[in-house]
Amino acid sequence: LRGGATREIPFAQPSSRTRVYAIASGKGGVGKSTVTVNLAAALAAKGLSVGVLDADIYGFSIPRMLGVTGNPTRVDDMILPPVARWEGSPAEVKVISVGMFVEGNTPVVWRGPMLHRALQQFLADVFWGDLDVLLLDLPPGTGDVAISVGQLIPSTEILVVTTPQQAAAEVAERAGAIALQTRQKVAGVVENMSGMTLPDGTVLDVFGSGGGEQVANSLTQLTGHEVPLLAQVPLDPALRVAGDTGRPLVLRPEAADSPAAQALNTVAG
Ligand code: ADP
Repeated sequence: LRGGATREIPFAQPSSRTRVYAIASGKGGVGKSTVTVNLAAALAAKGLSVGVLDADIYGFSIPRMLGVTGNPTRVDDMILPPVARWEGSPAEVKVISVGMFVEGNTPVVWRGPMLHRALQQFLADVFWGDLDVLLLDLPPGTGDVAISVGQLIPSTEILVVTTPQQAAAEVAERAGAIALQTRQKVAGVVENMSGMTLPDGTVLDVFGSGGGEQVANSLTQLTGHEVPLLAQVPLDPALRVAGDTGRPLVLRPEAADSPAAQALNTVAG
């Protein structure tokens, strides 16, 4: 990475037709990246041109979840992002991750200003092409990155991911409330790790229930515009396996009828 971006950010231009969504969560491990990759894959499967920018410095997991092993290449002073593709599917997704710019598994200890510059460069100097949708996977919490995104691309809409748990919902609300400061629109809430269906057909609410609705309601009040609960994605081991093996659940024909895949497809709808 260089010292600072030299170009304008194309997505910040009034003429840009790219819709930019930042996927936010209050804390880690709630499935923010899982939602991001499945949303990206579902949109790409519909024929849209999609990019994902993994800005989660604490847990960059997007490349693995999308099955991307390649690295960005440099052409003149632009960065060409690797492209995720899957056998038997026309979907393809351009991917850039903070993880592609560190050696091995080295933890990233960037501070705010450096992170801001990195984000600026990922947005300006990466050759994204003419995207329909750009998804930004933010680090968990109400941190610097969310504010940076608001400054760099004011039209970014926020998607909040939470579990059904009360405590998680409260921190997710705070993450969504950042949007008030940066005057961004909250596009909706996705509840993940909702009830798990057991082999005998009963549903077990491992992480409680109601968190998604709670976050949607309080963000509706806080922002003054309707913030919908877009989907409730059940706990499903297939979703974890899909993430671990690099082919998102929504691109797996054998899982097409599963409630988890259907819920994730709803978010893209
Ligand atoms: P975050 O990005 O919020 O840190 P991840 O998307 O990395 O969270 O998810 C954390 C772990 O939980 C991953 O191993 C992922 O595969 C798994 N996971 C996420 N959502 C579900 C779900 N609905 N059912 C089962 N496993 C899930």
